[in-house]
Amino acid sequence: MPFAVRGSAFVVLALSIGLAGSIAVRPSGQTTPPDTILVNGHIITVDPNASTAQAVAIAGGKFTAVGSDSTIRALAGAGTAVIDLRGRTVIPGLADGHLHDAGGGSGVDLSRARSLADVLAAVRARVEQGRAGDILVSNSDWHEAQLAEHRLPYRADLDTVSPENPVVLVRGGHEYILNSAALRKWNITKETPQIAGGRITRDARGELNGELIDRAKSLVQLPPAPKLTIEALAEQHRKLNAAGLTSIRYPGASIDQYRLLQEMERRKLLTIRVSQLMRVGADDAAKMRAAVAALNVQADEGDEWLRVGGMKLGVDGGFEGGWMREPYAEPWGEHGTFRGVNTMKQSAYTDVVKELNRLGWRVATHAVGDAAIDEVLAAYEAANAERSIAGRRWSLEHGFIPQADQFPRLKALDLVISAQNHLYLAGPSLVAYWGRDRAAWTTPVRAYLDRGFVVAGGTDSAVVPYPPLWVIYHFVTRDTISGGVLGADQKIARVDALRIETINNAFLTFEERIKGSIEPGKLADLVVLPEDILTCPDKHIEQMQVVMTMVGGKIVYGRPPS
Ligand SMILES: [Zn+2]
Repeated sequence: MPFAVRGSAFVVLALSIGLAGSIAVRPSGQTTPPDTILVNGHIITVDPNASTAQAVAIAGGKFTAVGSDSTIRALAGAGTAVIDLRGRTVIPGLADGHLHDAGGGSGVDLSRARSLADVLAAVRARVEQGRAGDILVSNSDWHEAQLAEHRLPYRADLDTVSPENPVVLVRGGHEYILNSAALRKWNITKETPQIAGGRITRDARGELNGELIDRAKSLVQLPPAPKLTIEALAEQHRKLNAAGLTSIRYPGASIDQYRLLQEMERRKLLTIRVSQLMRVGADDAAKMRAAVAALNVQADEGDEWLRVGGMKLGVDGGFEGGWMREPYAEPWGEHGTFRGVNTMKQSAYTDVVKELNRLGWRVATHAVGDAAIDEVLAAYEAANAERSIAGRRWSLEHGFIPQADQFPRLKALDLVISAQNHLYLAGPSLVAYWGRDRAAWTTPVRAYLDRGFVVAGGTDSAVVPYPPLWVIYHFVTRDTISGGVLGADQKIARVDALRIETINNAFLTFEERIKGSIEPGKLADLVVLPEDILTCPDKHIEQMQVVMTMVGGKIVYGRPPS
């Protein structure tokens, strides 16, 4: 037996050799000594048996053995680096299946604001630094649920600190809030007609409150964002590595970003594995065909560092615009007339989905409300009737409010559920918009798992902050930042939450055979944690700091325990 590894770990090892065939063996039958071994730890492998071990060996960027301290130490050669974990816990590298960016930026930073006064102080500071006429724009990574008042700052609030300079607060990916100077600048008045797929919001007296939702944002032309650079992407990836992330999936980004990432891979600058969904503006089959041709990429091209993951589409708004079968709670329901925002109509959406299926592309669709899920089902079923999508891992992105009648249809299409912890951030707002029962059902991970769906976890950063441990904490407890527990019946086991953040994400990108668990033959992506995430008190999951992150056997964050 070439490997001195015992028990269930050996069964896994033997299977993995069969799958990956990547164990380095010398002609003599001796194994090549590992580059690195990690010993004296608590290794949570997330393998099919949920086994644990004390130590792992790494060579050529992959795990080569998992087992006891003595068996792994016996593999070491003169050149092998030995990392003493000092009892720390190791888990597979964490993944985020729906991450736009890490937040931050050059705009007004509201991520640390905890009250309306904090928001206004941040805006006032920029007004005082700037010149007359400057347009002030905020970063997008904040939400009113983080504010003590649990409400948005509106036009009248912003006017008190910026009567002259136009102010545009960007909130997440679906909403702007403008002050009066900004409304004037872009000629938005009470007479401006509503925009299809969007909404210009009014207050109780019928006055514009400055809020523009989804396609209504097109009324505003913001100054161009600073050009995305390799340096900026590398800096973001370092932040993500520090939170324990080793893989991310960009849910809809430009071809320009993909080309930058390719250049980063060529120069060996990537410290995180990337799957990118493409996003193009196309609302019929012919335009989609032309747009796909213009991308000049293959539907699933790439390798273990960077790959194309399919095409991103969207059919409804976000927190404040998810498209529902039933009206919003009052006053947002506007006397039963407001059911959210449908950003792409059924006929155009179905046309585009069927064309992508013909072209061999996978589709991932943003759908928050149950009416949006109805639209996705109708289109995916129409595509499936032409050519089966089963086994091709098409996805439902978000899927906040699935209804009982929708589960069997989602299952029949063999969809993967890409679920995030929006509720953790936005709980009190969702209660206000949708009522307590609907808010408590938001992202019902337990219900999805119980019905046999593969659920891949993430955050939707920068809409929700990116730490993956907060996703695990929320899915395990259903606790929220400022609104207490919502939907306690949807709590899941910690080991399931860990799968959702690791191997299930690998499944989403067709990579479960090469990453997502600590098994011989797989890519050596791992995270060292200060304590056992399966047994520590709940609150520790939210608060613990990552000790060290490795991608492909290289340390990309932190240092060995000391
Ligand atoms: Zn998103």
